[in-house]
Amino acid sequence: MARYTGSDCRLCRREGAKLYLKGSRCYSEKCAFDRRPYAPGEHGQGRTKVSEYGLQLREKQKVRRIYGLMENKFRRYFEVAERKRGVTGEVFLQLLEIRLDNVVFRLGFATSRKEARQFVLHGHIYVNGSRVNIPSYQVQEGDIISVKDSSRKSERFKDIFDFNEEVTPPSWLSVDREKAEGKVVALPEREDIDFPVEEHLIVEYYSR
Ligand code: SF4
Repeated sequence: MARYTGSDCRLCRREGAKLYLKGSRCYSEKCAFDRRPYAPGEHGQGRTKVSEYGLQLREKQKVRRIYGLMENKFRRYFEVAERKRGVTGEVFLQLLEIRLDNVVFRLGFATSRKEARQFVLHGHIYVNGSRVNIPSYQVQEGDIISVKDSSRKSERFKDIFDFNEEVTPPSWLSVDREKAEGKVVALPEREDIDFPVEEHLIVEYYSR
């Protein structure tokens, strides 16, 4: 499976926004975007004019990078959204949001989506009592997401729970931190997407 192996911080600088890809580092003074909030490379500080196409491309890339997906997979979500009923851009965001790795991150069981994906792949995450090791697994309303009992007691998870103590999950999820268990109480709505995104630009990008 192809995956991006370059610097995560470079992606934030490229997109001109903090994408929170590196967990605790993103909240520290080591954040590369806070220190150098301009695009990487020789001409990083010189680019100003952006075309309509450039705007669409950047918005698409930003969201793709937030969810940590390669282009083929990301585009497939868009194609599925196009075939579903509803506003394509909103359905598209919902499909991304209900991925299991994203839900694990949103529940505060990981400090980044990348870490959440590792946890899913390595069998630390259960859905309705059964292990699910597919990061793209789409959760349904009523699903119970939990951390494997032995993993929950490990130092690593204890540190994560401490770090995320103040994190409040979005309204479509509920969490019981003692049990390391969360529930999908409803499917996410557009207003539950908590980072700035202009999804119409992504729709325009793929509709060209
Ligand atoms: Fe982005 Fe986090 Fe790196 Fe900062 S530390 S540039 S928010 S990935």
